Amino acid sequence: MRVIQRAIQVESRKRIDILDVTEFVREALREISAGDGIVNLFLPHTTAAITLNEAEPGLLDDIENLLDRLAPELSDYNHNRIDNNAHAHLRNVLVGSSVTIPVSGGNLLLGTWQRILLLEGDGPRTRTIVLTYIGL
Ligand code: ZN
Repeated sequence: MRVIQRAIQVESRKRIDILDVTEFVREALREISAGDGIVNLFLPHTTAAITLNEAEPGLLDDIENLLDRLAPELSDYNHNRIDNNAHAHLRNVLVGSSVTIPVSGGNLLLGTWQRILLLEGDGPRTRTIVLTYIGL
């Protein structure tokens, strides 16, 4: 059994953004010669989130619109008295900070349409994804 950790850096392009990071993760799994196991992807951030879903452009707009309805950027948030990004913290609370995916023969066992999506709430900025592989 091996436990390997890597940090993957990605750049968001605008304040609210969705990045498909699937290929970065696949590349990292190749670099560590992953076999059978699980990979955990953890964001050490409070204003971005990570989830799994389809990366169809219309759906990405729908996801952004849903989060905008649930946690609109412009609202009377307490946190905005000291910072200007409460909406991004709330989106992280709703979506979460990590995903775990099974790996078989070094390949992510994602469904046909599943992609790994990083949801930026307060970009543009550099985000770190902590990858932890546990397996053979
Ligand atoms: Zn804040």
